[in-house]
Amino acid sequence: MKRIYLDHAATTPIDPQVYEVMTKILAEEYGNPSSIYSEGRSVKKYVETAREQIAKAINADIREIYFTGSGSEADNWAIKGIAMKNRAKGKHIITTQIEHHAILHTCEYLEKDGFEVTYLPVDEFGLISLDDLKAAIRKDTILVSIMFANNEIGTIEPIKEIGEIVKEKGVIFHTDAVQAFGNVPIDVKDLNVDLLSISAHKIYGPKGMGALFIRKGVLIDNLIHGGAQERKKRAGTENTAGIAAFGKAAELAVINLEENSKHLQTLRDMLIEGVMAKIPQVRLNGHPTKRLPGNVSFCFDYIEGESILLSLDLAGIAASSGSACTSGSLDPSHVLLAIGLPAGVAHGSLRLTIGKHTSQEDIEYVIEQLVVIIERLRKMSPIDVNCPIDDAVFEDAGHHH
Ligand SMILES: *Cc1c(COP(=O)(O)O)cnc(C)c1O
Repeated sequence: MKRIYLDHAATTPIDPQVYEVMTKILAEEYGNPSSIYSEGRSVKKYVETAREQIAKAINADIREIYFTGSGSEADNWAIKGIAMKNRAKGKHIITTQIEHHAILHTCEYLEKDGFEVTYLPVDEFGLISLDDLKAAIRKDTILVSIMFANNEIGTIEPIKEIGEIVKEKGVIFHTDAVQAFGNVPIDVKDLNVDLLSISAHKIYGPKGMGALFIRKGVLIDNLIHGGAQERKKRAGTENTAGIAAFGKAAELAVINLEENSKHLQTLRDMLIEGVMAKIPQVRLNGHPTKRLPGNVSFCFDYIEGESILLSLDLAGIAASSGSACTSGSLDPSHVLLAIGLPAGVAHGSLRLTIGKHTSQEDIEYVIEQLVVIIERLRKMSPIDVNCPIDDAVFEDAGHHH
């Protein structure tokens, strides 16, 4: 049976051109880029080409791009590296309640080490308030980290405006742009960001490959200590094949950005409109317009996201639920709770993220299947569909973990 992959926010398939670059390095360029003989010099060229491709994709200088082992590492480095470097100045960090766990868990770790973290709330659409941000910045604030676009509900934060506020206060600004990169234009010269994280596998590149943009002049402690790689800032023999592949993926992403995002947006809106028109008691999570072109996030009343996922899988469709069931926990998503959904409603969430290979026929099939699946699951639901939903009702109705 044909599979329809609608989980591009989780990861993307490798682009054939990226695969070609990657396998060429693996097969033919085994040198260590730190070696001065020709095998080393030869592969070093690929690493530096990739650095140029990434720099160009976000309008940075090549000396501002540092390769890491993942988007998570880039996030960890930005937060821990800035915190450690500036701990004598202050120990206050500002972030949001809807960050990726790579940011949230890093901040929680620093809290155990005496740092104080303000987690800004968001409105019903997932947007932070600029007034809240202004009010939260203190004399001892050393870092603000606010994601560019949310991975669950797709909301795009006003990064430029945030950057202006943070810069005016003389505080360092980091943004997790892992979801935004390749989907919306990013220009670090225009944005007033000091640090920016990206990841290869979200843009049709390989897994285990990320990068951190560090603006020239921003001082940061190292996270990985050892050799002198990455201008003495990130030790470890370079993942040469991964780096070259990431460079290619970044190049392709920006060349085709406008065309791709238009394609995603058309299918996104078709999916949203189709589902909202054909299925009752469904809500769209996230902002109606300030959202990633390929992101669709729904909550269906009276059913659980996990049951929808299993039924979709049987129908050949790969999607994701807001609750972190895949990680072995049934806690409702912190993002859905932050936008104000009761836990019972947040349990019925479904995220469908569209990619460049998704077709209109795929979307039509998904809508058709969803109509049938939701109706069937609601018939089986232990929750009385005539009762207004709230947590108590949900729990009393025999909801078990
Ligand atoms: C995927 C993701 C990450 C983590 O990137 P990895 O390369 O998978 O470690 C961080 N932040 C956001 C917003 C993401 O979507």
